[in-house]
Amino acid sequence: MNISNLYKSKKTVYSMEVFPPKKSGAVETVYNTLYGLRGLPIDYISVTYGAGGTDSQKDKTVEIASLIKSEYGIEPLSHLTCVGSTKEQIAETLTHLKNAGVQNILALRGDMPAEGPCEMAFPHASDLAQFIREQDSFFNVAGACYPEGHVDAESLDADIENLKKKVDAGVTHLTTQLFFDNEVFYRFMEKVEKAGINVPIAAGIMPIIKKTQIERTVSMCGASIPAKFARLISRYSESPEALYSAGLSYTIDQITDLVASGVRGIHLYTMNNVEVARAVTTATESLFESVNKI
Ligand code: FAD
Repeated sequence: MNISNLYKSKKTVYSMEVFPPKKSGAVETVYNTLYGLRGLPIDYISVTYGAGGTDSQKDKTVEIASLIKSEYGIEPLSHLTCVGSTKEQIAETLTHLKNAGVQNILALRGDMPAEGPCEMAFPHASDLAQFIREQDSFFNVAGACYPEGHVDAESLDADIENLKKKVDAGVTHLTTQLFFDNEVFYRFMEKVEKAGINVPIAAGIMPIIKKTQIERTVSMCGASIPAKFARLISRYSESPEALYSAGLSYTIDQITDLVASGVRGIHLYTMNNVEVARAVTTATESLFESVNKI
């Protein structure tokens, strides 16, 4: 199914992200995650592509996306980056995706390697999106966006101008980088609407439930920390049970507010954690039912 049709038929779509683990022997983790998620009311599941990883991890993306569709009957959204690949390699991956029946692709540039310049089929995600669309009309192409601006962009306004190019290249819906301050997202939405970007935008939400996540994810992604979230971290970061509970409540609050405000989608960064994904879904399921009632 073309995911853009989901956005046409539902007011608010609920999706999740899983990732192939970096260690080749750890791939079972993602299969266990998918097994653990079965039965939840998830509209689609996205699978990351080589984020900080290896070629074998990239191959797993197609395999996992295919399994999500065949085994669990859920629509997959397969991420695809152009950093580190030639046009021929990308065309080959597209063939594998089509053969596996995977129709939806999140077109990304990917992060530039720290070691310096590398093979790069296209300079920007918008070029990759256009290439995919020209290769085969079978595919539906989605993209990423950044409520606080991408780190490489001169400013948020400049980033939004570039985002418009991505949408003009045929991207049918967008997912945001994670954020902790809903006000940041609402200000971003005002700006993108003014810029004439009118495709559905799903809010990317990551539950922070462990101290290691604060150190790694929160400091790496550069998302601003609202006072309420800062208080939670400072009070509970040394107490694992309290942090788990407070982090979960914060996520549920964030989603409750976003859904009430008419967000078009919530995309949960699960970090392959079934327990957390199930807890968030159970707590927020009725919100989605309520807004999607005809
Ligand atoms: P782009 O849209 O190309 O933007 C990158 C920079 O170029 C920005 O500063 C932008 O303003 C500028 N730019 C864009 N288009 C133009 C243009 N036409 N002209 C001039 N400048 C332009 N990484 C992975 O490796 N694997 C994943 O699976 C993955 N999944 C992700 C999922 C989501 C929802 C998000 C938000 C990010 C994900 N990332 C992933 C990280 C992403 O690859 C990095 O943030 C990367 O640095 C930028 O990718 P992009 O597709 O947003 O790039």
